[in-house]
This record gives sequence, structure tokens and C-alpha cells, in this order.
Amino acid sequence: MRVVLLGPPGAGKGSLAGLLKEKYHLAHISTGDMLREEIKKGTALGVEIKNLIASGALVSDELVTKLVEQRITSGQDLQNGYMLDGYPRTVKQAQDLDMILAKAQAPLDFALNMDADPDLILRRLTGRRVCRKCGAIFHMINHPPKKSAVCDICSGELYQRTDDNEETIKARMKVYVESTQPIIDYYGRQNRLKKLDGNLETVDLADELAAMLK
Ligand code: AMP
Repeated sequence: MRVVLLGPPGAGKGSLAGLLKEKYHLAHISTGDMLREEIKKGTALGVEIKNLIASGALVSDELVTKLVEQRITSGQDLQNGYMLDGYPRTVKQAQDLDMILAKAQAPLDFALNMDADPDLILRRLTGRRVCRKCGAIFHMINHPPKKSAVCDICSGELYQRTDDNEETIKARMKVYVESTQPIIDYYGRQNRLKKLDGNLETVDLADELAAMLK
């Protein structure tokens, strides 16, 4: 199964992908994670990316599409399919992805849109903590770790993303509405869109998806 996860920041795309990875062994391809890896390398490109992410702006279509193309065409772990999380984020990226997948003769099965209420998004993102080592996602109130700042799964250190503050979240939401939301119509017009309620908890989302796919 090859799926694109769509929806605003905080709709639960990463959490759902984490759960489906465990359950169905689908690879979780997150462009945000790939870009944060690039930042860790400390290159000039990494610094440029860091500043863009910190401001809530998008990284260039060319750069992100190149990263995705490399990952999709050379991944050894994609036998069961994958979920693209955070890509595409512009209509241009959606078109480029279709071209890449047509060339590989491995088209998408569908795009899954998850929308959530703005207040809930803000609460989810400001309370979110992420494991530095395995990427597991926690929430200080809804899903707190057993030990403060320590990952339940791998004992890695939990941290708060620099872009998970109120000001940057507002900027990311604006970018989402202007640049990313039009993709929903792009897939809708081609009858490739499914929808889930992003206000639901992750386990319920996974159940709804399983029922939808039966
Ligand atoms: P995410 O982890 O998906 O919330 O992404 C964090 C940040 O990485 C975004 O706010 C963007 O700055 C950047 N980013 C991630 N994916 C993309 C993409 N497909 N196109 C452009 N920028 C991206």
C-alpha cells in the first residue's frame, strides 16, 4: 500500500504513521524527519533548512522532491509499501510525485486527508515531545512518558521541536492553508482521496482506516 497522509500540522499524521508502521510494516517516510537529519549534519544547506523550519516556511520543492525520489527509488524497506508524511506540501510536489511514481510504475493507492480543529492542533503541538533516538511521539498531558523526558520505548531523550511554539505554529498553519490545502482538491478531482477525522485519537484513527480498507 502506498499512501500520502494529508492534513494540517498536528492532525496526527506522524502518530498514525508510527502505529501503522508497527501494525502493517509500512515504511514511514517523513520529509520533516529527513530535513531534521540534514540539519544534524551541520552543513551550509543544513543551516539554511534550519532557519526555514524555525520560521515555519517551506523548504524548496526541488530539494524536498530530490530527497523523496532518492528514498522511494532506493529504499530496501518498502516491500509492504509506505506512508508519506509531510509530502507533498504543494501542488507542484504532488505533480512531481505522480511523475516519479509513474516512472517507477508504482502509483499511489490513495491520499488520506485528516483535518482537526485549530484549538486541538495548538494543544497537541505545544504539548508534543519527540524522542531524539527513535522518533516516538508523546504528549505532556494526553500521552505522557512514564519517566519525565525519557522515551518509554528506547529510553532516548525527549525534546520539544523548535517549531512547536505558538508563534511558529500560527505561521505553519498559514502556510498550510495557502500552499498545502489545494492538494486536497488535486487528489479529490482524481478520485484518489479518502478522509478521516483528525480530531480522533490515533488508535481510533487506525481502526477507522482498517474498516475503510476492508
Ligand atoms: P513536519 O515535520 O512535517 O511538520 O515538517 C517540519 C518542517 O519541515 C515544515 O514546517 C517545513 O519547514 C519543512 N518541510 C517538511 N516537509 C516539507 C515539504 N514537503 N516541503 C517543504 N518543506 C517541508
